[in-house]
Amino acid sequence: MILPATPDDCAVLIVGAGPSGLALALTLTHHGIRCRVVDERTGPDEAPRAMVVQARTLELYRQLGFAERLIEHGVKVDVLELSEDGEAPFQVLLGDIASGTSPYPFLLCIPQRDHERLLATRLAEFGVEVEWNSELSDLYLLDDAVEATLVGPAEEQRLKVRYLCGCDGAYSRTRTLAGIDGRADDSRLFYVAEVRLADDSLGHTLRFELGQQRIDMLLPHPVAGLRQLVGTLDESSEDPPEPETLRPRLERIAGGSIERIERIDHYRTRSSIAERFSHGHLLLVGDAAHQHSPLAGQGMNTGIGDAINLGWKLAAVLEGHADESLLESYTEERRGVAKALEATSDRLFEGALDHGLKGRLLRSFLVPHLVPFLSGFPKLRRTLFQTLSQTRIEYRRSPLSAGLAGEVHGGDRLPWVSIDDSDEDNFATLDGLRWQLHVYGTPKMSLVVAAAALGLELELFDWSDSARLAGLKRDACYLIRPDGHVALASPSQDVLALKRYVDWYGLSFG
Ligand SMILES: Cc1cc2nc3c(=O)[nH]c(=O)nc-3n(C[C@H](O)[C@H](O)[C@H](O)COP(=O)(O)OP(=O)(O)OC[C@H]3O[C@@H](n4cnc5c(N)ncnc54)[C@H](O)[C@@H]3O)c2cc1C
Repeated sequence: MILPATPDDCAVLIVGAGPSGLALALTLTHHGIRCRVVDERTGPDEAPRAMVVQARTLELYRQLGFAERLIEHGVKVDVLELSEDGEAPFQVLLGDIASGTSPYPFLLCIPQRDHERLLATRLAEFGVEVEWNSELSDLYLLDDAVEATLVGPAEEQRLKVRYLCGCDGAYSRTRTLAGIDGRADDSRLFYVAEVRLADDSLGHTLRFELGQQRIDMLLPHPVAGLRQLVGTLDESSEDPPEPETLRPRLERIAGGSIERIERIDHYRTRSSIAERFSHGHLLLVGDAAHQHSPLAGQGMNTGIGDAINLGWKLAAVLEGHADESLLESYTEERRGVAKALEATSDRLFEGALDHGLKGRLLRSFLVPHLVPFLSGFPKLRRTLFQTLSQTRIEYRRSPLSAGLAGEVHGGDRLPWVSIDDSDEDNFATLDGLRWQLHVYGTPKMSLVVAAAALGLELELFDWSDSARLAGLKRDACYLIRPDGHVALASPSQDVLALKRYVDWYGLSFG
């Protein structure tokens, strides 16, 4: 049976219930926007995939009231180990290098399937259930909407929505149907294994080992005794190897005997970035827009970052609180992040696998000598954590970013400041994903009046050493976006600049 197109029966259709689609649905729902989430699978995916959740993702989740729930079900990694072909490992203590930069100075390990289950449960608390067994088969772009065809087990349904968000993964149907191209690098074959150790005295260490044209990674697991391993496989072999042939390699990196290989899967992945992330009222999010090396632990985190960046902008447009042109900044900002990732972590891992001189140099010099040497410098160690944890992501070149006050530019993530002698911090006010003004010091009366007239929350913090060390400027004012990035930084609390900014995007804060 074919059901006729139903006009606007929801504002946003989300195709794909992976982490990107679920995080987008959660952000929209948080803003009171109705959406539907459909997925062609019959139910949640149980295969092991992403494990690492970065600090920036937890910061964004905190704004959605979701961080603590995830942390409860995961395990914190505070030691990174790096070794070259069985040599003694070099260790980085994350707690030391990250302190003072984020409320989450660690990596969180939680299986992607548990992460997705918790997101879906949270969504269900808001009344949104994932519609399984519902495949996007076709779409048609209109000037101000998208018509989509969904195929279920019994029927085909056509619906018209204001926005369609393709969160449908690396082989995105949405991207193909919209005719959006993207360059893709050669693909790589990976294994991912879940194993039970005979003796579990390893602790919560995340271990990388570089060999001759291979990389293996050992990750802690919230279930005692279990570990996840991910690594590259020989490209020349026709078929992926049998689990038992991999056992010696897995035991070597696990540093002991494996009682049982619970599960082993193979993936072929590639690095690719879509030439654009939107086409009219269709938007691409997560792996549908860009894919990265699974070894860098960034793909899922970047998809969730996309989802939250897009979510607040879509909500603002749909609620009439911003001009539609606000959405143009989504591609600008998030494509920039994907490209930066490709140029850094993806390239580093590809480099280490290189057969030529570059690979040999990286394996035999960089890891055992240069990395330990450089990590002796506190500022460099901090930069390493900030890059890995995505807390360095900035949108300075975005059309939404303006000004500089202290060391903080428009577009930067608001630096984290812990309030002296208390458990509180300046991120507490970001709950709820709303625009707000921050002043660290004393506000001028003109700013207080302007904020009240605009309906903008004004948050005041005492000037402190922590604020200074974080790069903020005393008595400056910072207009903060719903996702915790600085929109406008004004050293002199310039009210005219604030009003111009608000008018430019037709912003309102009711
Ligand atoms: C071995 C491995 C380890 C990894 N480790 C990490 C890590 O530690 N950290 C990290 O950040 N990233 C990691 N990644 C990457 C991470 O798994 C992906 O980036 C992430 O799953 C992308 O999420 P997504 O929601 O964009 O897409 P997906 O998770 O692929 O979800 C897409 C969904 O869309 C559905 N779908 C597809 N087509 C249709 C259609 N036509 N109609 C309806 N539904 C459709 C699919 O069924 C699927 O549920 C790893 C990847 C692998 C393979």
